[in-house]
Amino acid sequence: MRYIITIFLCLLSCASISAQEPAFFYATMTVHHAEELSKDAPNEIEIIATYRNEAAVRLTPTGSHKLHDRILTHGPGYIHRNSEEDAISAIRKSNNRSESNTRATANFSITEDVVVIPTLDLIQTQNIEDHIIELENYGTRHHSSSTGTQAAIDLKEKWEAMALFYNRTDVSVRLFDHTNTGMPSVILTIEGAEFPDEYVIVGGHLDSTSNQNSTNNAPGADDDASGIATITEATRALFEIGFVPKRTIEVMAYAAEEIGLVGSNEIASEYAANNIDVIAVSQFDMTLLNGSSNDVSFITDFTNSDLTSYMMSLLDHYNTEAPHQVTYSTSVCNYGCSDHASWTEQGYMAAFPFEANFGQHNNQIHTTGDTFSLTNTASHATKFAKLCAEFLIEVAKNDNTALSTDDIIASSIFVTIADNILTYDLSSTTKDIIGIRLYSIEGKEVANVSNISKQDQIRIAPLSTGVYIASFISQDNTNITKKLIVK
Ligand SMILES: [Zn+2]
Repeated sequence: MRYIITIFLCLLSCASISAQEPAFFYATMTVHHAEELSKDAPNEIEIIATYRNEAAVRLTPTGSHKLHDRILTHGPGYIHRNSEEDAISAIRKSNNRSESNTRATANFSITEDVVVIPTLDLIQTQNIEDHIIELENYGTRHHSSSTGTQAAIDLKEKWEAMALFYNRTDVSVRLFDHTNTGMPSVILTIEGAEFPDEYVIVGGHLDSTSNQNSTNNAPGADDDASGIATITEATRALFEIGFVPKRTIEVMAYAAEEIGLVGSNEIASEYAANNIDVIAVSQFDMTLLNGSSNDVSFITDFTNSDLTSYMMSLLDHYNTEAPHQVTYSTSVCNYGCSDHASWTEQGYMAAFPFEANFGQHNNQIHTTGDTFSLTNTASHATKFAKLCAEFLIEVAKNDNTALSTDDIIASSIFVTIADNILTYDLSSTTKDIIGIRLYSIEGKEVANVSNISKQDQIRIAPLSTGVYIASFISQDNTNITKKLIVK
């Protein structure tokens, strides 16, 4: 009888263990890490094949935790694979991954000053701080915890509410269900007005971990609530300015990054299998702690160097002076350190601006100590939100004609609004001006005055703070438009 009970108990406990954690899974990692782990824990890892500096392995969950804890890496240090064949073909396929991109077709340029510059003023550090604390308060966002899944469901609602608040009918939010984790990823899509089949993607990971345990408190404030809050605030600022992208923008909160880039890997694989034309991807994973003398460290491994230097050009163009100054350097981050690697592996162009030079980053990550109180400000993350907005606007490009002001002509005229008085001076233009119309950034007419002279002061109805477009109507129908900010 006792024998039967023992078997019965074993069956129960074995079943519950196998439901949570398989006995082993397949993965790839560096040969160096695989060999080191084999020495430490020979029963937890089996090296199946090696090719150059990568190994395909069979790994137990215990082995993956040991690897995670012992190596100095930001992410898991390995990439989860679906099968032995997948693991072996992945290491054979990789051939200097950082430069193997074959899909890139875009011509990267910097032309959208008229949209980007006012957007930078709209990015609010407070919103990033509030969002980080909101995510920290789940206790854990471990991919196998119920709170991790709840965080994904709640983020979908938050993003939907944000789109609704700004009346964005071109925005949708969906959950992306996965095979290798119960936690879904969240994807916000702004449909491109002109080239909807061309995608520009920014992402971060929503899951957190603390010693790879699903029940430990895992606040993950920096890793990676900060990235999710950063891309959310950049997106909100795009909505506030009324930016309508020509290309489709997707904002992604990946599930299960901490167990081998599982969420991003399944998404990037599906996009590649469906031949989706992704122009460029940027990862935002850890933006909170300012650990180095420069603000942004561009990760140079598993990323595309052309895209990385383009993002540096964005900072050179938009962020050389206060209050928007951002300095940068480069660093390496090692194998499988974040979700950019999933896109790079599928041949897409990916970049990864990181919070510090590798090694000077937050040393509390993957512990209960990764909390917002460590910095008590998201001022560092704000710089990444600005870079994120610049990247999205410049790669997706603007399709909103209300925002397309002719700055060469407009720079020669003067117009301002203060205390409900619109003051303008068009004396430098030879045009016959017959009227002025004032539009909100969403394109709604807020004032319309005809029979005006070339310079005057006009009392107008009170306006809420924000960006407006003044359009001076000329006799020959070649209007002069100029953007202005009401404070
Ligand atoms: Zn991370």
